[in-house]
Amino acid sequence: MGGHPKIGINKGSSHLSADLGIKTIYLSFDDGPLTGTTNCIDICTRENVMATFFEVGLHQTRSAFGKNTYQQILNNGALFALANHSYTHASNNYMHFYHHPDSALLDFLKAKAVLQPTNNITRLPGNNAWNLNGIKRASPLVLPLVNKLDSIGLNIIGWDLQWRFNKMGRPIQSPANLAVIVDSLFEHHQTVTKNHLVILMHDHMFRAPADSLKLEKFIQLLKQRGRYRFQKLTQYPGLKSS
Ligand SMILES: [Zn+2]
Repeated sequence: MGGHPKIGINKGSSHLSADLGIKTIYLSFDDGPLTGTTNCIDICTRENVMATFFEVGLHQTRSAFGKNTYQQILNNGALFALANHSYTHASNNYMHFYHHPDSALLDFLKAKAVLQPTNNITRLPGNNAWNLNGIKRASPLVLPLVNKLDSIGLNIIGWDLQWRFNKMGRPIQSPANLAVIVDSLFEHHQTVTKNHLVILMHDHMFRAPADSLKLEKFIQLLKQRGRYRFQKLTQYPGLKSS
């Protein structure tokens, strides 16, 4: 009749959260700075939740709005991480982009020079590839570029769940539906890393007030669960150090 084993609480241990089953959500917003980015910034700030913005270099450089919005993200480093999502976003010609990995690599380096991120996290345009310590998911199309980004020490993070948008660029799933899917993915361990879930959204989905309210509602629903914490992707397990 032995007693319960003692749980060793080792302060500062990176294993602690995994041991206790704490579940971490990473909100990520892609393709800004665009109309809608300021709503994402405002809502995350009001709700005091961390998020990661995958920025497109071209969108940052082409207007004063882009530069100001970019600066707003950088200025709130406690809450936000800014990461590299390429310079041209493949000009939305993905086949051409990924068939020319050398120029695609240069595109990421150009974005790095413009965005000057303080982390080495990237996301491929239009492709859910991953490359971290112990995690590699890349289709044959993107593998040559993934290997090149890897060789210069960059991490690639995709997503576990996407909040999709329709032809008008407006959110498809309701906040309640999406929150239930989050619960289910955690419960059934259907995330790339157990107990860690990355959500992909696009800034432009939340440009209309009615749609930005949906983002706020979604975040509130997740907070009400009481069992999730929000982090920036700079805290994701397995990042290669630069
Ligand atoms: Zn994108």
